[in-house]
Amino acid sequence: GVIDAKNLRVKGELVLLGDSGVGKSCIVLRFVRGQFDPTSKVTVGASFLSQTVALQDSTTVKFEIWDTAGQERYAALAPLYYRGAAVAVVVYDITSPESFSKAQYWVKELQKHGSPDIVMALVGNKADLQEKREVPVQDGIDYAEKNGMFFIETSAKTADNINQLFEVGLEKLNLIKR
Ligand code: GDP
Ligand code: MG
Repeated sequence: GVIDAKNLRVKGELVLLGDSGVGKSCIVLRFVRGQFDPTSKVTVGASFLSQTVALQDSTTVKFEIWDTAGQERYAALAPLYYRGAAVAVVVYDITSPESFSKAQYWVKELQKHGSPDIVMALVGNKADLQEKREVPVQDGIDYAEKNGMFFIETSAKTADNINQLFEVGLEKLNLIKR
C-alpha cells in the first residue's frame, strides 16, 4: 500500500484466502454492502471488490479486496494476489477441520512468499453454527498466537464481528504505515 498525502488516502490491498465454501465472498459482501446472500455462487478464479472506509480522523482507507477461489486448480494463481497485499485474511469454517488445515497451509505460504511486513488475520467463520462446531475456538487462538496473527471468529450470516475484523485490519495497516 501507499499513502497519498495530498488526499489523505491510504491505499491498502487486502487479500482473502481459504478453502472454497468457508465464506470469503459472504464476508466481503457483508462488509461492503451489509448483506448476506445464502444463494451466492462459489467464486471461480478470483473476484475483485473495492471498498473505501472513512476513519474518525477524516482519513479514508481504500481496501482492494481480492477474493480468491479455494479450489486446488487455482492455487498456483494465489501468489499473484497476495504478493503485494498489506493485509491477508485467512479464513476457515469452524464446522470444517479440513478448512482449518487448509488455512494453516495458506499461512505458511504467506510466510514464505508474502510481503515481509504483511499483517495476517486468522478468521473462523460460520460462528453462528455452534451446534456443528468441529474446530475448538482455542485451536484457532493457539495457532494465531504462535504465528503472530490477529484472531477472530465471525459470522457473515449474522454479521457478528465482521466490522471488528476489518476495523482491526485498518488499525494495523495504519500502525505499519505511520
Ligand atoms: P467462499 O467460497 O469462501 O467465497 O464461500 P461463500 O462466501 O461463497 O460461502 C459458501 C457458503 O457458505 C454459502 O452457501 C454461504 O451461504 C455459506 N456461508 C457463508 N458465510 C456463512 C456464515 O457465516 N454462516 C453460515 N451459516 N453460512 C455461511
Ligand atoms: Mg468466494
